[in-house]
Amino acid sequence: GDFTHRVAEVGQDEIGEVAQAFNEMAQQVESMINEQRAFASNTSHELRTPLTTIRLRSEALRYEALDEDMNQQYITEIDDEARRLGTLIEDLTLLSRFDAGRSELGRNEIDMRRFAGSMLQQFQQQARAKQITLFTEATDEPIILYASLNHLTVVFRNVLDNALKYTPEGGSVTWSISSGVEGVTSILEDTGLGIESENLPHLFERFFRVDKARSRQVPGTGLGLALVQSIVSAYGGSISIESEGLHHGTTVTIFWPYGEACEQAEIT
Ligand code: ADP
Repeated sequence: GDFTHRVAEVGQDEIGEVAQAFNEMAQQVESMINEQRAFASNTSHELRTPLTTIRLRSEALRYEALDEDMNQQYITEIDDEARRLGTLIEDLTLLSRFDAGRSELGRNEIDMRRFAGSMLQQFQQQARAKQITLFTEATDEPIILYASLNHLTVVFRNVLDNALKYTPEGGSVTWSISSGVEGVTSILEDTGLGIESENLPHLFERFFRVDKARSRQVPGTGLGLALVQSIVSAYGGSISIESEGLHHGTTVTIFWPYGEACEQAEIT
């Protein structure tokens, strides 16, 4: 890298300490730059892949004599890949805004129970298609927090989507929401594929997907959890993911602080 310069660390005196601090900082900067490079190269690869499919399929539609089935198949593929590109760009935009600290933390008044109800409604069809039972547990009292409705939706849409994507037919997903002193704790438990312990530490890395071959059948970009973590921590919350291992299900716990009401109009 370009930040490989190190200074000699001589002696135990103050100069020696300064030299050591300098070297540690240089090392941190170097690894940040390497991470950024890997991110940029992953990003351009991930953007190029759907584009290539779109180009190939549209050329075929234009220049080849295809039967009606092939026609339909290629059109569907183009549509899927275009959607994938759209999601990718949306996720990347949001991620880069959070990276730069340029994302306003919204202050919409949100009742978590009602929010959860409307999220579940959105996922009901996906669950029914796979015969997955969706359970919810919450108190009867309203649970109020202040956040951007958009950010909250991105977070819970991602974890709910994962729970349904990685749970085979006939399984179940249980979502429980409870209110504590400082915030809300959401526990999302599924009976799905689970995650081996060696993969748990990498879940929040950008573009990371467990076993790319296995994940290929399931659509996704590997950006979801990275984005979820950025949003949750920007609000001062936390996320942890546990699994007893392959085929033993996964539990995602999110703590989200109540936040403060704000008189000003919301900017997102
Ligand atoms: P993706 O777009 O691939 O779903 P995410 O960042 O949301 O990306 O998740 C990263 C990876 O973590 C997934 O590819 C999957 O392998 C694993 N994963 C996430 N949630 C679950 C879950 N509920 N059960 C099993 N594996 C999961």
